[in-house]
Amino acid sequence: MAEITVEQFADVLKVSVERLIAQLAEAGISVDGPKDTVSDDDKMKLLSHLRRSHGREGEPTAAPKKITLKRKQQSELRLSGGQGRSRTVSLEVRKKRTYVNRGVLEEQAKQAQDELDRERDDERAKREAEKQAQEEKRLEAERATREREEEQERQRAEEQARKDAEAKARADAEEQRRKAQAATAAANKKKESERRSSTKYGRKELHVSQDKSGRRRKKRPARRPVAVSRDGKHGFQAPTAPVAREVVLGETITVSELAQQMAIKANEVIKSLMKMGMMVTINQVLDQDTAQLVVEEMGHSVKIRNENELEDALVVSGESQGEEIPRAPVVTVMGHVDHGKTSLLDYIRESRVASGEAGGITQHIGAYRVNHDKGTITFLDTPGHEAFTAMRARGAQATDIVILVVAADDGVMPQTKEAIAHAKAAEVPMIVAINKMDRPNADPDRVKNELSANEVIPEDWGGDTQMVPVSALKGDGIDELLDAVLLQAEVLELTASDEGPAAGVVLESSLEKGRGAVATVLVSRGRLSTGEVLLAGEEFGRIRAMFDEKGESIETAGPSTPVVVLGLSGTPSAGDDMISVESERKAREVAEHRQSK
Ligand code: GDP
Ligand code: MG
Repeated sequence: MAEITVEQFADVLKVSVERLIAQLAEAGISVDGPKDTVSDDDKMKLLSHLRRSHGREGEPTAAPKKITLKRKQQSELRLSGGQGRSRTVSLEVRKKRTYVNRGVLEEQAKQAQDELDRERDDERAKREAEKQAQEEKRLEAERATREREEEQERQRAEEQARKDAEAKARADAEEQRRKAQAATAAANKKKESERRSSTKYGRKELHVSQDKSGRRRKKRPARRPVAVSRDGKHGFQAPTAPVAREVVLGETITVSELAQQMAIKANEVIKSLMKMGMMVTINQVLDQDTAQLVVEEMGHSVKIRNENELEDALVVSGESQGEEIPRAPVVTVMGHVDHGKTSLLDYIRESRVASGEAGGITQHIGAYRVNHDKGTITFLDTPGHEAFTAMRARGAQATDIVILVVAADDGVMPQTKEAIAHAKAAEVPMIVAINKMDRPNADPDRVKNELSANEVIPEDWGGDTQMVPVSALKGDGIDELLDAVLLQAEVLELTASDEGPAAGVVLESSLEKGRGAVATVLVSRGRLSTGEVLLAGEEFGRIRAMFDEKGESIETAGPSTPVVVLGLSGTPSAGDDMISVESERKAREVAEHRQSK
C-alpha cells in the first residue's frame, strides 16, 4: 500500500482531519499537518492504539472481561412401581454462571457516569452561560436606565437651577430697576446742576463703583442685573429680617394685587384670610377694611389711597380764584302732586322769561333764570322729589332755597311732608307758596296750621318760614313770592367767584340726533367757557358749544347759570358734579378712574 496523506486518510476513514490528527497524536505518531504522509506502520500503530483504547473483545491485548461457567450434573432417580417393577430416570441439572470483571463494569459505569456528568456539566455550563448572559443583559439594561434617569435628573436639576437663576435675576432686575428709578428721580435735579458746574466727565461719583469710568455706555434694558462688586462677592444679599412693605390700598383690591404688593404668593394671602375665617379666590375683590386687616396681620403697613385724590386736586386747583361776589339763588320747587308746581314754574317762566324777549322761544332745559327788579333767581325746572334726592344722593347741593307748594284747598299731604323732610335733611331753607288762592275753598290758615304741626312755623306766627299766598293760574302773589326768595337769598349771603375754572352740577342730559350728548349743567362757581375741557361724572369732553335757556349760543357762563353744553363723550347722570379741567388727558384719567370704580 502506498503512502497517503493525512487528508486522504481522514477521507477514507470518514473522520475529520483534525480528529485524525488528534488520534494520531494519541497513538504517538506526530504529523506536521494535513499534507503530511502516513506510512503503513503508522496506520498499524494507530489501529492498535484505537483497538486498545476502545477495548475490543477478543483482542490479544485486551484481558477477558467476563467468564461464563457451565456446569452439568447428572444423576439417576430410581422409581419403584406398584407391580414390583422399578424404573430409572436420568436427571441432568445444568448450571450456567457468568462472571464479569468488576473492574470493567466499574469502568463502564464510570464512563457512563462520566459521560452523564459531562453532559450534565455541559448542560449546566450552558445554562449558566445563558443565565450569565441574561444577567449581563439585565444589568446592562439596568445600567442604561439608571444612566438615562441620571441624565434626566441632571437635566431637570439644570433646568431648575436655570429657572431659579432666571427668577432671581428677574427679581434682582426688578429691584435694581426700582432702585435705579428712585435714584434717578432723586438724582435728576442734582445731576442737572452738577453737569452745569462740572467738567465734562469730572462729576462726582454717585452710584458708580470706583472701577467704573465716568462715561456710561448706552443704557440697555436691565434684563440681567450686573452684580457690581469690587471684592468679587455676590451682589445679592438675602434679607435677614422680614421686609415690611407699605401697601397702598384703594377702596378695593383683589387678592392677587394685594399679594403682589406684599411681594408674597397669593396663596399666602388666601391662607391668611382663611385663618381669619374668609374663603376667597385669587381674583376676589376685598374691601379696604379686610385688606388692611390682612396686610397688618402679615406685618406690613397700610397706606390708604384717597380715591378722590385726583379729583380733590382738581377741585382745589379751581378754588379761591378771584373775588367772591354775590350770586343768584338756585331754587327748587317741591310739593304734593297736583298742588301746582308745574303751573307755578310755567307761569314764572312765561311771565318773566319769554315775555321779556320778543318772539323768544323758551326751551325746557331743566332750569331757567328770572330777572326780577331786585335780582336774578335761577329756577330748577325739574320739580319733584326724585331730582332733588338724586342730586343729594350724589352729594351735589345745587339748591339754595326750596319753594314748597301747598294747595290752599288741599293742605299738607304725604308728599308735602316728604318734601319738608328732604329740605330739612339738606338744611335748605323753605319758602311756602300757598297755591290756588283763587279757589273759593282756599283756606291758608288751615295750611299754616298743618305746616306748623310739621314744624314749619310761619313768620307771622313767630317762626322763620315765609309763606306767600299765590295763584299760579292767575299770577297773584308771584311777585311777592320772588321777593321772598330774594330776601331769603340775601339772608343766606350767597357768593361765588365768577373767574377761574368752573364747577357745578349736571341737571339733565340726553343724546340728541345731530348734536350728540347734550347736557344741562348749572355752574355753581367759576366761569365755564366754550373750548374748555369739561369733566362731568364719568364723562368728559371739550365744550363745542354752549346755549342758554333761550337757546341762544353763549361763550361763557358764570355762577348760578344753567347752560346746555355740547361735546361730552357721553351722557352724565343728573346730579353728577361737573368741573372744567386744564387738560383732556387729566379729564380722561379721572373719567376712566370713575368708570372703573
Ligand atoms: P303739579 O302736579 O304740582 O305740577 O300741579 P300742576 O301744576 O300740574 O297743577 C295741577 C292742576 O292744578 C292743574 O289742573 C292746574 O290747572 C291746577 N292749578 C294749578 N295752580 C292753580 C291755581 O293757582 N289755581 C287753580 N284754580 N288751579 C290751579
Ligand atoms: Mg307737574
